[in-house]
Amino acid sequence: MKRITVTILWSFLALLPLAAQPAGIVLDTLTVKHIDGNGVTHEGTIVCNKAIANDLRDIFAELYKAKYPIERIRPISEYGDDDERSMQDNNTSCYCYRQIAGSKRLSKHAQGIAIDINPLYNPCVSRKKDGTLIVEPSTGRPYVNRKARFPYKIKRGDLCYRLFIQHGFHWGGDWKSKKDYQHFEADL
Ligand SMILES: [Zn+2]
Repeated sequence: MKRITVTILWSFLALLPLAAQPAGIVLDTLTVKHIDGNGVTHEGTIVCNKAIANDLRDIFAELYKAKYPIERIRPISEYGDDDERSMQDNNTSCYCYRQIAGSKRLSKHAQGIAIDINPLYNPCVSRKKDGTLIVEPSTGRPYVNRKARFPYKIKRGDLCYRLFIQHGFHWGGDWKSKKDYQHFEADL
């Protein structure tokens, strides 16, 4: 009896990751080369929706060729699926099963069609109704002023921006209600 209970429990646990993944989404895992701000080459891993895998492969190949600095590219699972920890570590990542912060809607990251680039230096900035500034990650506050000089900054018109726009992505830095400078998302 005990053994049956344990078996059932394990079967249920094994199903959990699948249950957490939205139906109909096929994920792909890419290995891409990237160069950090010190000129050191790394191999990064991106988990994304298969539908944008070729776009990301092309974009990251171009960024690498141009030595566009990206510090770290690891799957969010290496941060226990904790987006705040991943962003604070300036980790570039795509797929993450989560809701939009402050809402119950699923993020485009949960569909694997949005990617956050160098997120510490390109925070997501919004305001509460009472005017309080929200900065994600919380350690990204020094980089809210987009006129300041600092490394890994994404600007409208720079290579990173141009490549994603050419591939049909939208940039969160162009949004009106909040500015999500790290965020590029595709339509699906
Ligand atoms: Zn994002």
